[in-house]
This record gives sequence, structure tokens and C-alpha cells, in this order.
Amino acid sequence: MRLIAIIALMLSFQFLHARTWELKGGGKPLEGEIFKATKLSLVLKDSDGKRISVYYRDLADSEIEYLKANYPSLVKDASLPEIKKSDLKTDAISKHERESDIENYQKSYPNIDVDKQSLAFRWDTKTGRFFTRHFLFDMREKLEESEALELAYRCECFRAAVLSLPFLTEPILQGYQNTIFVEVMNIPQKNVIGYYQGAYNAGGRTAAKIRVEPQRLPKAEGGNPMFSGVLAHEIAHHLTGEFQYPCAISEGIATYVEASAYIPDKGVRFDIIKKLLADGNLPRLSDYKSKAIVSPSLTKFYTADRREFHAKRYVLRNYMLAQLFTIYFAENSPVAFSRFIYTARCPLGEKEKVCSAKTKSAMREIFGTESEDALQKKICAYFKERGVDIIFKD
Ligand SMILES: [Zn+2]
Repeated sequence: MRLIAIIALMLSFQFLHARTWELKGGGKPLEGEIFKATKLSLVLKDSDGKRISVYYRDLADSEIEYLKANYPSLVKDASLPEIKKSDLKTDAISKHERESDIENYQKSYPNIDVDKQSLAFRWDTKTGRFFTRHFLFDMREKLEESEALELAYRCECFRAAVLSLPFLTEPILQGYQNTIFVEVMNIPQKNVIGYYQGAYNAGGRTAAKIRVEPQRLPKAEGGNPMFSGVLAHEIAHHLTGEFQYPCAISEGIATYVEASAYIPDKGVRFDIIKKLLADGNLPRLSDYKSKAIVSPSLTKFYTADRREFHAKRYVLRNYMLAQLFTIYFAENSPVAFSRFIYTARCPLGEKEKVCSAKTKSAMREIFGTESEDALQKKICAYFKERGVDIIFKD
């Protein structure tokens, strides 16, 4: 009996390791590996095997985030303190909180261009694998070295670009610490040109990868913009993939990044989105030229589950609306949008119903003091000015 208990313990701890735990208010940090998590406190084991118990409320907010992100099932039943939203804001966001500062905020969107020398590009001619600082690429078909370098360069640019988006704060982007594994090979499902897939166990992430179709590999001279778009889209999913979000949020972020990547060979330029929209050239809009787009109410749209969002009849419209709304919020109320995303996030494995209820209460962040109807009117007006007709209907 005893032996079984010990084996079980060893199994459950194989992912845990010693760590320095920061405390609130600058207390002396604690060293130790996780021994167990109770309802109110975390029990650590130091290098001498001594147990140290610390209340969650005494841990720094970043440690609570760390626990939630990396050990979701371990702290499932723990009562973790609510993290004050003000602690989550980056400097960039809090500086531009006032409406009148939105313009400055927009100017702070950097155009991302990674120095090719800094990619740390390594090339294994035998296997066709290649590596950069943050990526590992595996492909079935052999590439010219110049094409591989271009692919790697774009991926590093997209990664840096997603991390720079002011409405994606660090607690949202937990995925950024992990190497991104990209496979370029055939996808059997029809009409799918790329996907992101993550797998998780009790100890946190075990594997995550992006797979994209090799049909149109990027050329060094910068062709095939859509291929870049697919990569950018999946990388955005990867970087936010430690949590689940309603499809309208996650596809909104991914299609937003995808649009910024549409102009090849110029780095990633978020300011291009405004221009594409103003010129009526957003790629997903092409089917709706001079046609009104009928949208469900914002609440209905953002609380739609996976099945509803991907219903055959509406899926293209939904991807496009998710992109348009993300553009609207990024341009007009990035701070509220950032809080909305943060509040709506759900640990992996949580039931869809629970997450949907969370999204519903998160909607308060984007409505602010306005009613849904008032916000919908503003959105309509914003897009009408740019030649896009949206009609909200429940
Ligand atoms: Zn997607």
C-alpha cells in the first residue's frame, strides 16, 4: 500500500521543480518546489526537504498567474486571490488611458522588423530541419536555404509583432515562453490551410505545434502574402494558446495579426490595417463589397460556442466580423478591450458553458457605462464611414 502511494507521488511530481517564489510587498522570496496545493496555501519543499507553507494571498500576483497558467489542475480547487486589473496594465496602456490619448497610443504601434542577423538561424541539411531563437521547423519537402531563411524570418517577425500588441498584456500571452514548433506538410482536411494544436497534462504543456500547408511557400523576393497570413494567424493562436477564449476573441486576434502580415517583405506593419480597411482591401471583406453584413448582437456573437461560430452557413462571416470588431476595439478602446480579453480567459479543460458565462460578465469591460445598443451604433458608424455596412440583428 505504502509503495503504491510513493509511486503515485513520484508520478505527480515529475513535472515540478525548484523555483524562486516572489512575495507581495517585497518580502524575502522563498525557494522550493511545489509539494502540494491546498485551498488557501501553497506548500513548498525546500532543498533540505523541509515543508514551507505560504498563503496564496501573500504570493506576488505574477506567481498566482504562473500557477494558473502552468498548473491549472493543481490549483483547480484552490481559492486564489483575484488579481487587480490595474496590476496587469503595461506602462504603454496606462499611459494612454484617456480617450484623448488614443491617437498617441496608435502611434505607439511599432512596425516590427527583426534583424536577420539576430535570428540565430541554424540549418540541418540532412533532415531539412531548421531552427531560430524561438522556432523549430520541420518540413517534408526540401527547401532552398534562402527560402528557409525567409520563412524563419517572417515567423520571428510575427512572434515579435504579436508580443508587441498593446491590448495583449503579458498574462494573456503565457505561450511566449515556449519554443514554437512549425510543421510544413500536407493537411488532410479540405479547406484547412493551417492550424494550431496544443496538448496539456497535469504538469502543464506537453506539446504544441503549428501546421501549415506547403502549397505556397514564401519566396525570398516576398511573394505569397496569404501564406504569411496563415503563419501569422497560427502564431497568434500559439502565443495565446495557454487559455481558452470564445472563438470570436481568439479568431479576432488571429485575423487581426493575419491582416497586418498581408504586405510581404516589409516586416509586420499594424498601421497597414487601417489603410486596408479604408481602401476596402481587407482580404476577408472581398465577398461583402456593397453588401450589408448582418451581425448577431455583440453579446450573442462573443458568447457563441465553437459549434455555433463554425456553423457552415456563418463561418466566413463570423471570421470576418471577429476581425472587424477587433479592429474597432484596437483602434477605439484598446484598454477596455484588453481587460475584456483578460477577464474572458478560461483555463484549458474548463466547460464551455462556464467559459461562456465568464465572457458574458466580461462584456461589461467593453460596454463600459454604455448599453450594448449604444456601442453597436458606434461600431456601425465607424465602419459606415469606411464603406462597410454592418447591421446588428438578434
Ligand atoms: Zn484561427
